[in-house]
Amino acid sequence: ARKYVVKNHFKGVPKRYDFDVIEYELAPLREGEILVKTEWISVDPYIRAYNAARSVPYDQFSFQVGQVQESRDREFPVGSRVVSHLGWRDYTILSKDKTSKYYDPRHPHYKLPDLKGLSPSLAVGAVGMPGATAYLGLLEICQPKKGETVVVTGAAGAVGSIVGQIAKIKGCRVIGFAGSDDKVEWLEKDLGFDKAINYKTSDVAAALKEAAPKGVDCYFDNVGGEISSVIISQMNMFGRVALCGSISSYNEDASKMPKASILQPSIVFKQLKLEGFIVSRWFDRWHEAFAEIVQWIHDGKLVVREHVTEGFDNIYDAFIGMLAGENTGKAVVKVQRP
Ligand code: NDP
Repeated sequence: ARKYVVKNHFKGVPKRYDFDVIEYELAPLREGEILVKTEWISVDPYIRAYNAARSVPYDQFSFQVGQVQESRDREFPVGSRVVSHLGWRDYTILSKDKTSKYYDPRHPHYKLPDLKGLSPSLAVGAVGMPGATAYLGLLEICQPKKGETVVVTGAAGAVGSIVGQIAKIKGCRVIGFAGSDDKVEWLEKDLGFDKAINYKTSDVAAALKEAAPKGVDCYFDNVGGEISSVIISQMNMFGRVALCGSISSYNEDASKMPKASILQPSIVFKQLKLEGFIVSRWFDRWHEAFAEIVQWIHDGKLVVREHVTEGFDNIYDAFIGMLAGENTGKAVVKVQRP
């Protein structure tokens, strides 16, 4: 089997030489284990963000979907599909044994959710960790109410595109920020955002003031940095901010990271609530998000899009492309033809 191993702590944008692809022998299965052939691998921003906290070398983690080839676990028969967090590998042994190296306690593997005929790849996207992030982060932390104005950054990405559409379903006015005119057009024409803005080519403060003349009630923050300061400064009384990610600084040297700009007056006087979250907090509720998202897709209320890269050898390029904003929708890698 093959797997990607991270050799270094990244400096700036991760380099190809920071990864090794290693061939290794798979051990025979023990009781309770399954052998999975990978079909879809996810490339996500947290792969970059969590690098500093890990000691190197380590196996590259990420969500993946595969099909069971051999099974010594009756719950996962041969031919069934499984979602796991064992990352960039073409074959994976999974175990329920909590002491096993094939077990990730934060994200134990689980059966493919009932996708009602949709592509299994969605299990690493809209019906996977990013979908749960959008659904639970927005509904639990922002608690958007009908008629309120919701702003989302990273709006054309895996999480952001779903956040905006759920906010529309909940009857909100939705404004999204994204990094290209094509993304802006997709958000407005296909996803029904009330307004989308290219943050690279516009004056963010002025554009937001025009798009949200009555101010912002909820902000789902995927990017952090200066744009977030501007958005937070235009929030209404008792506004809610879900701090989901800060991709604008993931490639920065953590020791030289800029301090947050001065926001205190608006946070205090407007009595805002800002809350950071990690979606694994609600791991036992992901299935709720999945069921509702699948239903919305089937009902035509939620549009999903994927940016597919083919081939196990191209995972690095897919990952770097996602960090650079090449993806509209969820960036995924198709490993082998099912
Ligand atoms: P996306 O699909 O949104 O892909 C990343 C996108 O980030 C790119 O397409 C690019 O779009 C944008 N981007 C890159 N650099 C910058 C920058 N300097 N400023 C602004 N935008 C930038 O990824 P995900 O949807 O998977 O993740 C979105 C965010 O959510 C990330 O911050 C991630 O870490 C976070 N996250 C948090 C979770 C949690 O539990 N808290 C779980 C999952 C994700 P563009 O062209 O618009 O610049």
